[in-house]
Amino acid sequence: MVEILRSLVTMEDHAALVMLFWGNAALFVLVLSYVVMDKTANFGPNGVFLRKFAVARGIQALGWCCLLVFQAERNRAFLIVGGLLALAGLFAESDALLFITDMPGERKKRLRMASTDLMLVGAVLFSVSRILVGSILSVTFALVSLPILIAGCVIGPVCLAGLSSATIRKFVGISAFCMYAAAVGWAIGGADPFPVSLFRESIAQDIFRIALVILTLSGGTGILILSKEATDRRIAEMAIRDPLTELYNRRHFFERGREEFADCARNGDEVAFVFLDLDGFKKINDKWGHRFGDAVLRDFSALLRLGIRPLDLCCRYGGEEFVIFLPRTGREGAATVAERMLEAVRGSKFPEQLDFSYTVSAGVAHGRPVTADEEAFMDLLAKSDEAMYRAKRAGRDRVVFWEDPPPGSERR
Ligand code: GH3
Ligand code: MG
Ligand code: MG
Repeated sequence: MVEILRSLVTMEDHAALVMLFWGNAALFVLVLSYVVMDKTANFGPNGVFLRKFAVARGIQALGWCCLLVFQAERNRAFLIVGGLLALAGLFAESDALLFITDMPGERKKRLRMASTDLMLVGAVLFSVSRILVGSILSVTFALVSLPILIAGCVIGPVCLAGLSSATIRKFVGISAFCMYAAAVGWAIGGADPFPVSLFRESIAQDIFRIALVILTLSGGTGILILSKEATDRRIAEMAIRDPLTELYNRRHFFERGREEFADCARNGDEVAFVFLDLDGFKKINDKWGHRFGDAVLRDFSALLRLGIRPLDLCCRYGGEEFVIFLPRTGREGAATVAERMLEAVRGSKFPEQLDFSYTVSAGVAHGRPVTADEEAFMDLLAKSDEAMYRAKRAGRDRVVFWEDPPPGSERR
């Protein structure tokens, strides 16, 4: 029984090195071909991260390969170069993990510098221990380099595991942390620095090797899932946003708006729509060009984002038409939002065209919905659209309420 259990946790240096070399080489090729051939892999910072990760795994593969050569040739140069390459690869991976944490750039930079310093000091001490073979000094150097190397390597994984709540990120961070601990444990406890084969023959070394092999492979798989998740999130975002302004598109506006509308109907709350249309936009395009027209649309969208509460919903309804849905808001609240938007637009300046200014017309419809159905939602939206056209007819650059009587007529 003990024999069977022992055989389950036995892995020789050679077997571990072969698996680490091929495992890392395969991940290097897999990740690199994914990032080169699949456009979606490059969304946002994901592409840079995957490239860094692939390079880190490539360096690790080279390092393990050198150690295999050392086993065959017994040339110490391969031992030192291989050990340093493997550590450099592990460090590069830690750096890549730090890159995808959500922390502010300045802090990230400081942590990168700190981990690089620790890594360099650790690597120098480790190399010295491998040069002073068999002496008690070599054991001291090896043991001192252990905590320094771990500290240098684990900053990235710890930050990734700690700062983000997503389970897969925690998994990748924690498994990378354990991978570094196993790698450093194996390197320090390994054959050469220790005069007696105390560590070399112990079960701890087998466990370090097995852990390193498993975590190398599972961590790589986790990274691929993580990047696929980031890609999926980006695609899901693209499906609900307008590409030019990055505001919600009409489909998402209707979906979310109708949910909020139904909620307000159930609670007897008031709701309001503000329909906004840029004035004379065709002339803007004709006079200043479509590129500048696009910049105006983006400018207006930025003002919209700034001008609403987090619970309000706005979308690009069509070309130069935008809608804001304001749940739990009556006439006064809607008037404030609409006037604020018009005021912001009047004050907007473009550094490339200092003499340019633009205006916008707004129509407001509000009410207390009695039914939560789509028709009631669309009906109130259509009223805000109609009010906006009245604002146009009344001379543009103004807010008109649907319930206000048109000039020169009785209230309907
Ligand atoms: P009004 O004051 O009555 O609203 O006049 P307008 O010129 O703003 O309205 P009209 O509907 O005549 O013209 C809208 C213009 O918006 C025409 C169209 O070429 C332009 N447009 C629509 N989408 C975009 C876009 O994405 N980029 C740019 N640059 N122009 C766009
Ligand atoms: Mg217009
Ligand atoms: Mg229009």
